[in-house]
Amino acid sequence: MERALSLFVDGFLNQEVSPFYPSGLLPQDSPVRFFLPNPKDGSTCKRLNLFLRWMVRGPDTIDLGLWREVSPSDLIIPLDTHVARISRYLGLSSSITYAWKVSCEITQNLKRLDSRDPIKYDFALCHLGISGDCPSRPDLDKCEPCMLRPICCCWA
Ligand code: SF4
Repeated sequence: MERALSLFVDGFLNQEVSPFYPSGLLPQDSPVRFFLPNPKDGSTCKRLNLFLRWMVRGPDTIDLGLWREVSPSDLIIPLDTHVARISRYLGLSSSITYAWKVSCEITQNLKRLDSRDPIKYDFALCHLGISGDCPSRPDLDKCEPCMLRPICCCWA
């Protein structure tokens, strides 16, 4: 997946763009580059990985499953602040940084739970944070009823 995304991003950003720029090249400071980071530069590539999750996984109540020729086992988790934090709490990651290698570490650990579809856990991890049910600092009111508490390092 790293190689595929890297080739896609390089190919997209190196297209001939002379209708927009006389040099024919996309400038280095073009805002378009913000939306197309490259894993070989260490980026987590969250948006690209999330788009792939939507297109490859499923179909189920969350993802569309339209691209059947790609295996869900090849997906990489779309790493955001919520997934990174909760993954640390649960021992899926040992790092506090956002980087492609951290996305891969979490994905590899999720494969121990389901090697064919490791990214099915992304929605649950992410929404535990988005909903506010998992606080950024341990909070007994919220953590006491949490079913993950026995394995959460905040309470170990
Ligand atoms: S026990 Fe608390 S900090 Fe740990 S995962 Fe649950 S809600 Fe989050």
